[in-house]
Amino acid sequence: MATKLLLTFAICRLIVTVGLTLNPMELLRLGFDGQLSFDPADVESASLDFGGLSRSEPTAVLHPASAEDVARLVQSAYESSRGFTVSARGHGHSINGQAQTANGVVVQMSGRLGSRKPDKPRVLEKMRYVDAWGGELWIDVLRSTLEYGLAPKSWTDYLYLSVGGTLSNAGISGQAFHHGPQISNVYELDVVTGKGELLTCSQKQNPELFHAVLGGLGQFGIITRARIALEPAPQRVRWIRVLYSNFTAFTHDQEYLISLHGQHSSQKFDYVEGFVIVDEGLINNWRSSFFSPRNPVKIASLGASSGVLYCLEITKNYHESTAETLDQEVEALMQKLNFIPASVFTTDLPYVDFLDRVHKAELKLRSKGLWEVPHPWLNLFVPKSRIDDFDKGVFKGILGNKTSGPILIYPMNKNKWDERSSVVVPDEEVFYLVALLRSALDTGEETQKLEYLSNQNREILRFCDEAGINVKQYLPHYTTHEEWVDHFGDKWALFHQRKMEFDPRRILATGQRIFNPSF
Ligand code: FAD
Repeated sequence: MATKLLLTFAICRLIVTVGLTLNPMELLRLGFDGQLSFDPADVESASLDFGGLSRSEPTAVLHPASAEDVARLVQSAYESSRGFTVSARGHGHSINGQAQTANGVVVQMSGRLGSRKPDKPRVLEKMRYVDAWGGELWIDVLRSTLEYGLAPKSWTDYLYLSVGGTLSNAGISGQAFHHGPQISNVYELDVVTGKGELLTCSQKQNPELFHAVLGGLGQFGIITRARIALEPAPQRVRWIRVLYSNFTAFTHDQEYLISLHGQHSSQKFDYVEGFVIVDEGLINNWRSSFFSPRNPVKIASLGASSGVLYCLEITKNYHESTAETLDQEVEALMQKLNFIPASVFTTDLPYVDFLDRVHKAELKLRSKGLWEVPHPWLNLFVPKSRIDDFDKGVFKGILGNKTSGPILIYPMNKNKWDERSSVVVPDEEVFYLVALLRSALDTGEETQKLEYLSNQNREILRFCDEAGINVKQYLPHYTTHEEWVDHFGDKWALFHQRKMEFDPRRILATGQRIFNPSF
């Protein structure tokens, strides 16, 4: 009874607020197996994201039970004379409202509501792949594959992100230098296009759609299933951090380590990342809890005359049965590196604990009320040839001595990225990810405020522009057509053509603000 009343109230509200755009009765007649929700709490949660910087209220939220539910909704949006927008939402971990849509329908792909639910991940052990629902979180994909002693090869640093959400961007972490991004580790997809067709695609079947969707920012279709490549899961990880005060020595070593991507696994690390430390005092942010507080590291004590330190982070995976050779292999690799001798921090832990490391930091931040705060994050791909200039201008310049969050930096090999996908990277064989993962706090301190950090992001982009450093934004956010055309560069014509083919009414993922709907 209460539900019925709520529904009637919500429908009346809809008819008043939405007017011509979307007829809720039409939606209800579609008869979903999952749940179409007008519940204000549901609508509110779909209006927000991790960034906390923008808010757009959809009319309704669909919790699909199957790919057919998604297809039914999108087909109706496409065929309806008035049209309405549809945005897939994974775990809502975007920064700038990319999974939101005003007055349309959000398809809540992650989470399992109601009695009918999408399929759980299905592992084909012999073929070494898993078929996962597009809204599945990577942590759950991992749990399922581990039952077979298998695991995906390429990761993000944080596992509470959806398969469809990361594949719409790229999905990168320290494994990308040899396995490529997550989009290079997918065999097949099921996709609901902007016309409401449910199509299977791969390198061989509907290849244009396959390449368009990978890194496609949700513009060409909603991923309902992904077939993801697996490898035997390592049991444990040796996790090492070493420090540098010299940026050239740091990047030289990172580039050396990723150049080993073709070597036998015993002769390379499995993961190469790094971060920048510009804050004064203890090396202490939510991504570096690893440095023991009983053994505080002061920047000054390590001879960083510029006040900036760089931390190389590397791991080696192993099985307990091969642990004997591990020390030697690590030692041989470390001998080639030029870090500050007294700055080696080592730990050893189960593979899952390593992969799930950021979640532990999340729980700590949550307990202090520091997780659900605005996140003006800026992620840039910087060409290798200009990374020194970026260091001088940004790390040693614009940032000052307060960062308000971790700054990751690590290089990747472009030959591990498929040029046919939609993602855009710099035009050089090696490029760096620089991720400024800052949290804004209203503590009274100027340098922690949202406005200060947002201005600083703009200053960094302006600096790159004026210095002619051709960075590309990862998880891009632009507000004008010209900026998007510039972002895609040579790929714009193809991106536009694919949009006209797969989503001609431009109803999907409007929160990216690339195209306006045609109604
Ligand atoms: P959402 O925010 O829900 O959606 C993102 C976009 O994808 C939207 O445009 C949406 O419409 C579209 N979309 C969502 N699901 C689908 C689907 N099934 N089919 C088609 N389109 C879809 N990224 C990395 O690469 N590496 C990292 O290490 C990393 N670490 C992160 C850590 C944290 C704490 C956070 C908050 C983000 C991190 N990210 C990282 C960024 C993350 O990969 C992206 O923000 C990603 O989009 C989040 O996934 P989501 O499921 O929350 O997507």
